[in-house]
Amino acid sequence: MSRHASVSVDLKALKHNLSIVRSVAKQQKILAVVKADAYGHGMIEAATTLAQAGADALGVAFVSEGVMLREAGIELPILVMEGARHELEVAWASKAGLMLTVHNEYQIRDLPESLFLRPELWLKLDTGMGRLGFRPEVAEQVAERLGARCTAMMTHFACADMPDHPLNLVQIERFEAARQRVNLPCSAANSAATFAFPHARYDWVRPGIVLYGSSPFRDESAADLGLQPVMTLRAPIVAINHHRKGESIGYGADYHCPRNMPVGVIAAGYADGYPRHASPGTPVLVGGVEVPLIGRVSMDMITVDLSEVPDASVGDLATLWGEGLPIDYVAAHSSTIAYELMCNAGAHAVIEYI
Ligand SMILES: *Cc1c(COP(=O)(O)O)cnc(C)c1O
Repeated sequence: MSRHASVSVDLKALKHNLSIVRSVAKQQKILAVVKADAYGHGMIEAATTLAQAGADALGVAFVSEGVMLREAGIELPILVMEGARHELEVAWASKAGLMLTVHNEYQIRDLPESLFLRPELWLKLDTGMGRLGFRPEVAEQVAERLGARCTAMMTHFACADMPDHPLNLVQIERFEAARQRVNLPCSAANSAATFAFPHARYDWVRPGIVLYGSSPFRDESAADLGLQPVMTLRAPIVAINHHRKGESIGYGADYHCPRNMPVGVIAAGYADGYPRHASPGTPVLVGGVEVPLIGRVSMDMITVDLSEVPDASVGDLATLWGEGLPIDYVAAHSSTIAYELMCNAGAHAVIEYI
C-alpha cells in the first residue's frame, strides 16, 4: 500500500512508559497488554521491546495472537484474556504454553481431560463490568473445580478512567469479598486503576494504553503522568490554496472561509485512520504550530487553515498526532478515545520503527 500518511513508532518511548508503570507499581508484576496488534503499534515489535524492557508477562485477547507471539520467539508468560472459545483452542494454547482466562462455564466444559492439566488458568470474575466473568459469589466453587492449574484470579473495571465513579468502589468490594474466600494471586488494574487505585494493584497490574503514551484520564494529560507518545502519524501538505472570504471548503460545503486565507491540503484522511468525526478546530501541527482543521475529513485528505504559518510549503510534513501533538487532544476533538485512533491508524499504515 503506497499511501502518503506514515506512522512512526518510537520504541524508546514504549520502554520509557513501561518504566513509568514500574515506578508506580513497584511491588507488582506487570502484564503488558499487546492485544489488537499492540493498539495498532505492531504486536511483535511492541512485545519484543516490552520483553527486553522487563515486562513480566503479556496480555492478548485471542489464542491466535498468543500463538503468533510464540512463533516470533517471545518466551514471556502470555495470558489470553478472552480465553479459549473451543477445545481446539485449548489444545493450541497448551501447545504454545499460553495461560487461558476462564470466564464462562462452557470453557470449563470444553477443557478436554487430557489437556485439562496443562494450560495455566486465570479465573475471571465479573464484579460490575457486565461483560466476561463468573459472578463473585461462585469464585470459590469455580476455583476449586479448576484446582491447581488455576494460578490467579482477575477482574476488570468498567469506570477506572473516572476514579470518582461509584461503581469503582462496588467492584473493589466485590473482588475483595471473593479474595477473602479464594487464596490466589490477584489482578484487577488496567492502566487507569494502576494509577488511580493503589489498593487495587494487588499482585499483577495490566496496563495497556499508558504504555502507548496516552492518558486514561480526562483531567490529567499523558505528560502529567510522565508518559511519552509512542505513535506519530504524519502526512505531507500536497497543496496550499488561497481562498477568498465566503468560499466553502470540502464536502457538504459546511465550512465558509471567514476571510481571505491560505488553506493547506494534507494527504491523510479516514482511510489512514484519521477520524472522520474530527470537528472543525481539531489541531494539526504544521511547522511546529497548531493549526485548525477546517471542513470535513475526506477519505484521503484533510484541510487546515494555514493563516498562522505563512511560510508553510507543499511537501512539508504535518503531524496529525504524536510527537508535539498529544493524541488525547485529537481524540477529545473527535468524540473518540486514543485507543480507537491508534488501532485504526496502525491498521492502515506501514509502520516505521525508531
Ligand atoms: C485491554 C485490557 C486491559 C488494558 O486496558 P488499558 O485501559 O489499555 O490499560 C487490561 N485488562 C483487560 C482484561 C483488558 O481487556
